[in-house]
Amino acid sequence: MRPYILAEANWKHIHDQPIDLVILPWGATEAHNYHMPYATDVIEADTIAAESARLAWEQGARVMVLPTIPFGVNTGQTDILLDINLYPSTQKAILNDIIEVLNRQGIRKLLILNSHGGNDFKTMLRELGVQYPNMLLTTCSWFHTLDKSKYFDEPKGDHADEMETSLLLHLRPDLVLPLEEAGDGAAKKWKVQALREGWAWAERKWSQVTEDTGIGNPKQATAEKGKRYFEDVTQKISGFLVELANLDMKDLYE
Ligand SMILES: [Zn+2]
Repeated sequence: MRPYILAEANWKHIHDQPIDLVILPWGATEAHNYHMPYATDVIEADTIAAESARLAWEQGARVMVLPTIPFGVNTGQTDILLDINLYPSTQKAILNDIIEVLNRQGIRKLLILNSHGGNDFKTMLRELGVQYPNMLLTTCSWFHTLDKSKYFDEPKGDHADEMETSLLLHLRPDLVLPLEEAGDGAAKKWKVQALREGWAWAERKWSQVTEDTGIGNPKQATAEKGKRYFEDVTQKISGFLVELANLDMKDLYE
């Protein structure tokens, strides 16, 4: 039993355990090219949260990881089989209920560890921050913590790409098909320049952009690349967890 993983912990052990920071990993259930499981984002969320928390725990941070929420925002994938969509308004309702519990029980710090590109918690946390002014509500997407070009030959993908495939080859090789069976993750680009360059935004209709549901070529993925990236991501996030857990709520700025 890892005392910082709520799903494994029992009340006997933790009922008087001090908790400074709660981590809520948030994934998605969706197709990942032809070769990776629907739970890819959940597996990443589970393992990155657990390892980051372990490293932080070893440094004395009193953290607790909640079970990963398995469904995310998939509004652009309505026609892809069993991509399960939670609307952002539903996510906010779930968040509200979780934050209400933490707030009532005097746990003042929350980190949403996001594992899915379609999830965006920032505007929700602005609203919930007004409702719960004693809470410190934070969010971070693990896939934005490092410069992917230092780890991968094709770093430009953003779904079921070389990075995600390498991670899964490291974490759950039993769930990844041989790479010859993967699609090449080729994606069409917007005709509108501003959208193509990314300084303007509109949601993509996924099935019109990619044939195999992937965006980014996974073919050069290896377990070794995944291991190196996983270790560096969790190392970096653990530093964040330690800082957050130790932060004095009355002294946030310098
Ligand atoms: Zn993914």
